[in-house]
Amino acid sequence: MTDRADGPTTLAPAPAPAPASEPEPGAALVAAGLGRKYRGGWALRDCDVAVPAGRICGVVGPNGAGKSTLLSLAAGQLKPTEGQLRVLGAAAGAPELRARVAYVPQDKPLYPGLTVAETLRMGRELNPVWDEHVVQQVIDQGELNPKARIGSLSGGQRTRVCLALALGKLPDLLLLDEPMADLDPLARHQLMGTLMSAAAERGTSIVLSSHILPELDGVIDHLLLVQRGTIRLAGDLEEILDGHHLLTGPTAEGAALADETVIEKRTSGRRTVALVRAPEPPDGPWESERPSLEDLLLGYLRAPAAPEQRNGVAA
Ligand code: ADP
Repeated sequence: MTDRADGPTTLAPAPAPAPASEPEPGAALVAAGLGRKYRGGWALRDCDVAVPAGRICGVVGPNGAGKSTLLSLAAGQLKPTEGQLRVLGAAAGAPELRARVAYVPQDKPLYPGLTVAETLRMGRELNPVWDEHVVQQVIDQGELNPKARIGSLSGGQRTRVCLALALGKLPDLLLLDEPMADLDPLARHQLMGTLMSAAAERGTSIVLSSHILPELDGVIDHLLLVQRGTIRLAGDLEEILDGHHLLTGPTAEGAALADETVIEKRTSGRRTVALVRAPEPPDGPWESERPSLEDLLLGYLRAPAAPEQRNGVAA
């Protein structure tokens, strides 16, 4: 725990709000030269990225890419080794962010000896703003017994309690690390709906990591693709998808595609399927379609050495 710094958690008491220094109202997160090193080496390095406020931003990437490290830095639970990270206009971890940021880490830290009702009461008492309605909605949907001890709940039920606490404090920014991993499909659907309503009704910014790619489709409108400790792709999801093309055509043509535009290319017999990054699809006998989010992400994940991109523009 020596790596940990003070910062907002769902249960942390919030001090009186203080004005944020150098407000950046248009940005949920702004990283500049951000890096974090553990004993084993750099988990994240040279990250320059901005996530506008009011977005639902998916943070995706393979295991060990640095997603949790980025979220933990944003929550102020870890300190950067180098560079800066600003959250809602203040330095990550600043006391004034405690009331404005809710963070649900992967390990879902709750007190196992408390009941569900006692845990929720603690959230209500520790947070200056509290929306009992949304908390009850999340708890009731999961048919959770208020008298059940946290230690007796399944992983998915604990996730539900954590999300209820996080939503209850009506944060301006929700940081969710793999929130859907241990939920059943119905619970995922319900909770995604609740998150999207919060974003739509209150303009809550949401940054969530996930490796369940189909879950993100139709939910996120901003994308951060993290690979090997760097941001490989970042930006508005529609713009990113518009800037890529999924081509199917003869293998002979595939060999002639400009290398710098090809993210990933697979050949089977006389057919080549290629994911390319270019404003327009290339000339040639290609069938071209706009990639789905899953096509795009799988293309990048299968080809970690493809050209680096930031904000949809080659770096
Ligand atoms: P992801 O969330 O994408 O799976 P993480 O941010 O958890 O990735 O980890 C990024 C890298 O940092 C990995 O190589 C991981 O082993 C390492 N790492 C994460 N946490 C620690 C830690 N507390 N101590 C040492 N290394 C860590």
